[in-house]
Amino acid sequence: MSKSKLNKAIGSIEPSMTIGISAKAKDMCASGIDVLTFSAGEPDFDTPENIKEAGIKAIRDGFTKYTAAGGINELKDAVVMKEKRHNNLDYERNQVCISVGAKHSLYNIGAVMLEKQDEVIIPAPYWVTYEAIVKFVGATPVIVKTDEKDKFVLNKDKFLRAISDKTKMLILNNPGNPTGVTYSKKDLEFIADVAKEHDFWIISDEIYEDIVFDGYKPVSIATLSDDAYKRTLVVNGTSKSYATTGWRIGYTCGDKEIIAAMIKLQSQSTSNPTSISQMAAVEALNGPQDSVEIMRKEFEKRRNYIVNEMNSIENITCVNPKGAFYIFPNVSAFYGKSYNGHKINNSMDFSMLLLEYAHIAVVPGIAFGDDNYIRVSFATSMENIVKGMKVFKDFINRIQ
Ligand SMILES: *Cc1c(COP(=O)(O)O)cnc(C)c1O
Repeated sequence: MSKSKLNKAIGSIEPSMTIGISAKAKDMCASGIDVLTFSAGEPDFDTPENIKEAGIKAIRDGFTKYTAAGGINELKDAVVMKEKRHNNLDYERNQVCISVGAKHSLYNIGAVMLEKQDEVIIPAPYWVTYEAIVKFVGATPVIVKTDEKDKFVLNKDKFLRAISDKTKMLILNNPGNPTGVTYSKKDLEFIADVAKEHDFWIISDEIYEDIVFDGYKPVSIATLSDDAYKRTLVVNGTSKSYATTGWRIGYTCGDKEIIAAMIKLQSQSTSNPTSISQMAAVEALNGPQDSVEIMRKEFEKRRNYIVNEMNSIENITCVNPKGAFYIFPNVSAFYGKSYNGHKINNSMDFSMLLLEYAHIAVVPGIAFGDDNYIRVSFATSMENIVKGMKVFKDFINRIQ
């Protein structure tokens, strides 16, 4: 076959490194090694019982056929009510598209909005998927580095310098993966003003909005003005707040023409998200919310412990995150040193040695566009965290 097997678009993206390292850790587990896993990108809690029951009931009731491609009305209405209740945002049914996870929502947005000449501003460190989607649809990611000393909030001057007349959108993740960055209302007002002045869209990924600490209450950028409302697509889903990552339900709220285009694309690609999961998501959004707070509290307890432990280590600095379930410690002080005769030159070396010799799985910062860091997830039991930090300190002490 002289014709190339794969197209250039798929060649432009890398497989997800976060999945790669989890797979290696899983292999080690399977061969009997007791791996302490700090690489998870999902809650370690079980899906709450009422949500599971709603899924089981959907199966029993025979709610197992195709639904409308953009989701059932009950779920769209549940999303509308949730956005009103939670963020005081007003949407109508035709401004909501239900997708197969928020990742799918983001992919559809890229697919229906972006063209070759378009630039998309992505603050780094970023969730890898943003860059992959932009590249896959042939547009250009414009990466703007944020600093640890700013707690990873987008720097105003750097942001302004990244804008060109080709800027089509900004992808904002608040609270953010992997840094746990959280934006104040003031930070967001500046961003909304800049978006208005330069006329670009804001994609607001709010998937971690319920996992927040120290009383931080995220403001959706869409609430800031009528203009911000119109130019923002709010992306969210049930995965993180309700521990339903495998159920695959995400959603987008915003401009009705964009929503209609996303639904049209879904109607010719995935069709509807799983009918059973949609029913479970209705229960997640409309049912009792106590499990969300129980998980949030547990995450906060773990965060308090792990940040403290991490910052007690000489030569490591770690921002105290106000949201999501990750810490992003700076381990670059160890670059150029060695562990057990193996040189550590970057975040991949550090993470690999940590996995091989200490049996601790983390994700190298390079996977998120910053090689000075590692991402440590605290979506794991307190017992694992306590044990893991002991072993981690031991590992650090052996670096020469
Ligand atoms: C986990 C995550 C998502 C959503 O994942 P889905 O399971 O596809 O809904 C979206 N954005 C970020 C930054 C995430 O970490």
